[in-house]
Amino acid sequence: MQQLLLIGAGHAHAFVLEAFAKQPEPSIAITVVSDSPLAAYSGSVPAWLAGESTLRETQIDVAALCQRANARLILSPASTINTQERYVTLANGERVNFDVASVNIGSTLALPQQRGENLPKLLAMRPLSSLHQRWQALQNDISRLPSGDTQRVVGVGGGAAGCETLMSVLAQLRKQRPDIAWQGHLLSAANALLPSAGRLPRWLTRRALSRAGITVHFEQRGEALTGGGVTTQDGKRIDADIVLWATGAVGQPWLAETPLPLDQDNFIKVNDTLEVTGQPGFFAAGDCAAFTPALPSAGVYAVRMGPHLADNLRRACLGEPLVNWQPPKRVLALIGTGDGRAIASRGSFGVAGKWVWQWKKRIDARFIARFNPPFED
Ligand SMILES: Cc1cc2nc3c(=O)[nH]c(=O)nc-3n(C[C@H](O)[C@H](O)[C@H](O)COP(=O)(O)OP(=O)(O)OC[C@H]3O[C@@H](n4cnc5c(N)ncnc54)[C@H](O)[C@@H]3O)c2cc1C
Repeated sequence: MQQLLLIGAGHAHAFVLEAFAKQPEPSIAITVVSDSPLAAYSGSVPAWLAGESTLRETQIDVAALCQRANARLILSPASTINTQERYVTLANGERVNFDVASVNIGSTLALPQQRGENLPKLLAMRPLSSLHQRWQALQNDISRLPSGDTQRVVGVGGGAAGCETLMSVLAQLRKQRPDIAWQGHLLSAANALLPSAGRLPRWLTRRALSRAGITVHFEQRGEALTGGGVTTQDGKRIDADIVLWATGAVGQPWLAETPLPLDQDNFIKVNDTLEVTGQPGFFAAGDCAAFTPALPSAGVYAVRMGPHLADNLRRACLGEPLVNWQPPKRVLALIGTGDGRAIASRGSFGVAGKWVWQWKKRIDARFIARFNPPFED
């Protein structure tokens, strides 16, 4: 019996579990370690932030998926990895042995320094898995604000997630507290939004931000939270009451204590087969994997890696040769703008409208339904 261990229940591992549910392998015993029985699906996050869907509608039922794949699920996060003796230690102290293992634990972000008093309220957008707790805490704070107040919401990070979440959050706050004057600002370290998109999608995003009343500040890298605002790289202070922190993704800090080879952002170096460099039988996929050439930290890549990872994990367990993964040249990004519209972006192509939002919602609902049993009333 080969012991296959899946660390984290990210998007790629959802596909692995689905593949083994469809085509079981009697000689492979699967164990999944996850910090939660439900996993967040990033595509549905803007609809949920904007109050258009429930939290549960944005989550993959990992426990049900494990049951379908006949996999054992252990609900405790991995905290150390020993690739020589081939075991993982979990936060609950348990030790799980493996022959073949794969890591799909997503990413986090570097939080800003916090200096002084009267700091703005902070909403960090990663890790995604615990965003609902931070969002709930912020909403509770907001429900206590006095009527007639003015609140400045500053988003830090000009990538797709930063733009999308700022528009969605502002839309929801305006709905939740129409008695408050909400002002939006976005800080982008670069001199353009959406670094990997073409000119048209960038222009459409800029227009959507402007329609949402959000002022964009280019070449302003938010560095620290200080009294009443965000301080940028040149010491300038941008006033803020609430800060959405959506800077670039980095790998989970605990990976630095493992023998896995990491790049400068703490992501695990993998080769073309998604096997970790220099670690036979050990794989990584999704945000936590550093592929060459570098890929953006987007769920769509974790999704595309999933079926391929499933195939190579099966091959590794059965002692068969591995197959290379080819990343897609261009991917479709659908960016919600919080006003019942969305922007579709693929390379230099871009289009926006209400139908794009409906299209996005249909794609996301299909994705979630693929992995989840029907809801019970
Ligand atoms: C606000 C926001 C919106 C986004 N919107 C989009 C979008 O619309 N489209 C898009 O393509 N991308 C989007 N992204 C990016 C996307 O979220 C990530 O690229 C994607 O989730 C990565 O998938 P993954 O499978 O690598 O990891 P994840 O989906 O993050 O899954 C990792 C899983 O591992 C678990 N885990 C973490 N640590 C451990 C541990 N130590 N042990 C066990 N389990 C662990 C987590 O709980 C989680 O369930 C967005 C990101 C953010 C922050």
